[in-house]
Amino acid sequence: MPARLFRSAKADRNRFIALYVSMAIGLLVAAGLFVYEARIIVADGLRDEEAFAVLGAANRVLHDLENAETGQRGYLLTGDETYLVPYRQGVRDLDDTVLRLQQVASSDERSIELVRRLEHAKTDKVTELARTIELARSGNRAAAIALVQTNEGKQYMDALREDLGLLLNDWRERRSVATQDAHQRLVFGSAALVAIAVLVCCLMVYTVYIQRRAFARVHAYSNALDQQAAQDILTELPNRRRLLATIDALSGKAADSQRIALLYLDIDGFKNVNDAMGHSAGDVLLRRLAESLRTATRHNDMLARVGGDEFVLLATDCGDDSRLRELAERLISSVRAVGEKEYRGRFAIGVSIGIATFPDRVQTIAGLLDVADAAMYVAKRGGRSTYSFGASPGPGLSNVVKLTR
Ligand code: GH3
Ligand code: MG
Repeated sequence: MPARLFRSAKADRNRFIALYVSMAIGLLVAAGLFVYEARIIVADGLRDEEAFAVLGAANRVLHDLENAETGQRGYLLTGDETYLVPYRQGVRDLDDTVLRLQQVASSDERSIELVRRLEHAKTDKVTELARTIELARSGNRAAAIALVQTNEGKQYMDALREDLGLLLNDWRERRSVATQDAHQRLVFGSAALVAIAVLVCCLMVYTVYIQRRAFARVHAYSNALDQQAAQDILTELPNRRRLLATIDALSGKAADSQRIALLYLDIDGFKNVNDAMGHSAGDVLLRRLAESLRTATRHNDMLARVGGDEFVLLATDCGDDSRLRELAERLISSVRAVGEKEYRGRFAIGVSIGIATFPDRVQTIAGLLDVADAAMYVAKRGGRSTYSFGASPGPGLSNVVKLTR
């Protein structure tokens, strides 16, 4: 049993090591995946912000140009100087917004090229606007309007709108790709987290399972040890220790009305077998005797081997003396029968029995064993293969065990 227990503990330990190593690898991979995905999500966020800034700056360029153009048109049509306010404001802001666009859209060649073309178109458009306003202010409004009617400014604006459209499409596309990617990464990252949680839960469940199994094995082993410690190895009957524990337990709970008998048995002539046929033959005889005595007694009564060739029968609720006499005679016959069967009369095998009963002859259950032992010696002296009743001394008598037949 201990070897099996150690083997299983060792196997559990190896399983645990393997499990912990694979769990650690699993956790590291899942954690690494999570960190990797988190970094990409952050990068996607930055790309999204960058795209947002480009879109904002590009729209702003268009907005400033349209402001300047609206101011120019108003001034040319009405001659009202207040229209020059949005015109000037638009032209002034354009420098800043184009510069901002150059800064934010500088990450790839195509955007740089588009912004360069936008800047050209913007410069041409602003020059065209300035020329028409100068003509109008110098009193030549008709020439200014004629210049507008050539559609030169419109061509600049169309070219600008086209390039702006391309730029906006590019960056809108990038923004949507970055957002989609961030979404996917979020799903992967969450899956990695779920995997970590599942791994940890599995580990905990498995640990509890292994622990419970190990406890159950240790418990079973300790029960088996208890059992062994209370059992005679040769005959598998309860041993002296178990008998004494049972007597202790009975002392604590038996009522005076319950009659208990203890029969102390010592085999007669046992040593002769040992001496003539060897110790192992004596062992075989002891086992046969134990089986035979067990068969001759009630299952509920405890039959124990308490020494070399000594047995004790503890019979609770044993009935009156006549039943005890019958029992003693039955035991004597069964021992004799074993001797006859095994050695065909070569050895005179018998048994001497001392009987003590509670509460009539012995007042305490704890005292039964000594009284029965002493009575057994009386039976030996009385010729063997017989029985004798023993009683503890009554009040006024000396401290000598009083024995009856
Ligand atoms: P008596 O009739 O007076 O009872 O004498 P006996 O021959 O039966 O011998 P006794 O009871 O005095 O001694 C019992 C012997 O049993 C002593 C010992 O050598 C032997 N013995 C004790 N334990 C074992 C055992 O486990 N196996 C065997 N084979 N012999 C044992
Ligand atoms: Mg003997």
